[in-house]
Amino acid sequence: MTDATRTYDPAAIEGKWQQRWDERRTNVTNLEGPREFYALMMFPYPSAEGLHVGNLFAFTGNDIFARFQRMQGHTVFEPMGFDAFGIHSENFALKIGTHPATLIPRNIANFRRQLKASGLMVDWTHELSTTDPSYYKWTQWIFLQLYKRGLAYKKGAAVNWCPNDKTVLANEQVIAGECERCGAKVEQRFLEQWFFRITDYAGRLLKNLDHIDWSESTKAAQRNWIGASDGAELSFRVQDLEDSAGLATATAGLTGEFTAGRTSEFSAPTTDIKVFTTRPDTVFGATYLVLAPEHPLVDNLTSDEQRGEVRRYRERAAKQDLVTRKVNKEKTGVFTGAYATNPATQRPIPIWIADYVLMEYGTGAIMAVPGHDERDFEFATVYSLPIVRVVAPLEGTAGALTEAYTETDNVKLVGSGKFTGLAIPEGKKAITAWLEKMGHARPVVNYRLHDWCISRQRYWGPPIPIIYCDACGVVPVPEKDLPVELPHVEDFKPDDTGVSPLARVESWYRVTCPTCGKAARRETDVSDTFLDSAWYFLRYPSTQFDDRPFDPAITKKWLPVDSYIGGNEHAVLHLLYSRFVTMVLKDAGLVDFEEPFTKFRAHGMIVRDGAKMSKSRGNVVNPDEYIAKWGADTFRTYLMFLGPYEEGGDFRDQSLVGVRSFLNRLWVTATAATADGSPDPAVLRKLHQTIQKVSSDVPSLAYNTAIAAMMEYMNVVRAGERTAHRDEVLPLVQLVAPFAPHVAEELWELFGNKQSVFDSGWPKFDASLAAEDSVTLAVQVNGKTRGTIQVAKTIAQDGAMAAAMADPAIAKFVSGDPKKVIFVPGRLLNIVV
Ligand SMILES: [Zn+2]
Ligand SMILES: [Zn+2]
Repeated sequence: MTDATRTYDPAAIEGKWQQRWDERRTNVTNLEGPREFYALMMFPYPSAEGLHVGNLFAFTGNDIFARFQRMQGHTVFEPMGFDAFGIHSENFALKIGTHPATLIPRNIANFRRQLKASGLMVDWTHELSTTDPSYYKWTQWIFLQLYKRGLAYKKGAAVNWCPNDKTVLANEQVIAGECERCGAKVEQRFLEQWFFRITDYAGRLLKNLDHIDWSESTKAAQRNWIGASDGAELSFRVQDLEDSAGLATATAGLTGEFTAGRTSEFSAPTTDIKVFTTRPDTVFGATYLVLAPEHPLVDNLTSDEQRGEVRRYRERAAKQDLVTRKVNKEKTGVFTGAYATNPATQRPIPIWIADYVLMEYGTGAIMAVPGHDERDFEFATVYSLPIVRVVAPLEGTAGALTEAYTETDNVKLVGSGKFTGLAIPEGKKAITAWLEKMGHARPVVNYRLHDWCISRQRYWGPPIPIIYCDACGVVPVPEKDLPVELPHVEDFKPDDTGVSPLARVESWYRVTCPTCGKAARRETDVSDTFLDSAWYFLRYPSTQFDDRPFDPAITKKWLPVDSYIGGNEHAVLHLLYSRFVTMVLKDAGLVDFEEPFTKFRAHGMIVRDGAKMSKSRGNVVNPDEYIAKWGADTFRTYLMFLGPYEEGGDFRDQSLVGVRSFLNRLWVTATAATADGSPDPAVLRKLHQTIQKVSSDVPSLAYNTAIAAMMEYMNVVRAGERTAHRDEVLPLVQLVAPFAPHVAEELWELFGNKQSVFDSGWPKFDASLAAEDSVTLAVQVNGKTRGTIQVAKTIAQDGAMAAAMADPAIAKFVSGDPKKVIFVPGRLLNIVV
């Protein structure tokens, strides 16, 4: 049919088709087109090293799915962009002494070149970069929408501070007291920062997980991150002077100037300390309270006698990082000198401070139940605080506690007034209701999720669009004044002051107040990179509009995203923040959906020769080298062949050979195929079985088994080195196309087609052609069924006999020549011995 003398030359073919796709605008999406399908991949951070093979693994998986959808008749949109703000870029820029504004465009150009070389179906007319003012103008606009809705606020908080990176770290970035990035010992600092009230959305973020079509592992990670626990908030009334004094006198070791030293600072005699507990049923066993050292009530509560000790303890605690405090084995604490009333027993209990209680969780205070909590038991033992049993086994007698008794099944409440005898779940409900009636409790769900701190005291990010005016206070930058452009600053190195490098640029931060016109000052923090990526999927289809972040009509048509593919390392932060921002926009009436990604699938990880790839090991696969050597088609197909896509696999250089030889055989077979005669029915049967297999494997991302099926089909086509009929090969070219798009286009053209193979549709599956001409025969020996065999419908007695004897499970009943054989074609073989 064609020029059979040409050999398969990936370099020539791939260059030709990449150029032709550009010229013919093959991959430019008609956003008005029918049956829209939005295939999104997580946009990369454009590092100086260039595209990582892990990026390409992720993108190829998305690309195959997108190309498949296009061949199913959808108008597919596969955009690409760059997540280029953030500390990674900034640190690298500092290291090599090049400004990020110079570095990033260079990195992006290199990424774009690599992405084009890998043959992705990207619509480059909608490319975006988060560092482009035309993009971050709208990131700032998103901030303002949250601010308008009361969801952005500024507060002072203790934070983890890396003295080397000179920035705030999230708890997840602190490993054993050290900075995850650089290993420096992490300190605690107190900073005023901007937060988003994501905790207001915790319940909704959790509930929707029940119905969205996402990878289970991703949903589980989000559930765990949000961390809901049912419980109650209990109020403990702080005792006034006289009550405390009376008790203090009665308590050994706590006499002296306790009452005399009490100052007028303590001006709120009805102060309540609120605690959150998941075990309100044990309130009768609460024998002391513990506050976080930073708790705002500590100053007011502390007696003069204890003041010195409390102050020293608070100073010590302030030096520790938050994570160490949480996991520290050694329990330390200090008595404040104050008492509160246990609302259940009405008895006074002492108030302590201890560093294992954090302001960040719950209310910053706990009721300690040493009888039934291991941590409290340890603490009570060290400081000789009372330990009371309020839970006991149903059977037998309960003796004195030598350790915390934490059993909750087959137990009952004891020493709990009228609640004695109840099981735990009933006790929880009844005690909470009883205390609630008295005004001492309310049932609450507590979340592990914290509000999202979006302030960064660094340079390379979008400035937070806020102005501070002495007369007007906090003034949001009017939307018409966006973007607040990041000024070009030569010295952007962060310093020890804990404020952003922008605070050194007076000409930039001095402004006039948009409200009153007086002198004012800009916010000098920039926003978290995760805010840039929390809405980029909304921008892609609307990049052509400068006057709106996303066009309502286009957004209505294209969103939510049909399919999103990315790494599970983003299971919590990026994916949770994107959901949160979308919910806020929904509540603001700006979009009509609240879940941005209808379907999300997490891809697996690839290792090399069994080891994790890393620069330090020197075993990183550089896509450029592999594409130069093997061609993008072989590289893509191999990446998808090395394991199940959602699990990943092991990259082995020698295994590329098999994939390359498959494409080679496809080339040779297609170029030599004949149009004479008609296709072999047995080959056609295998073809339709293959169409069925690939058509069902691709949508479930089972790429490796789809490729294996195509290879198997190739073996059938070429059995005995026969010449293939073109009707046996053309559909295979279409099946291969999503995986190896360049060679598929070339062969499709060689077969005389004028349009792109991606606009040719998908091979039709015919069940009747796929049906096997085989039957199942029951095999009996002396009338007793001994097994079944699978044989051709037309098989004769001799053939059936031979097949039966080839099965050892049957053959063992037959020794010597049978006396008689009864054969009923299509049904039965009876051997009489
Ligand atoms: Zn660090
Ligand atoms: Zn003003």
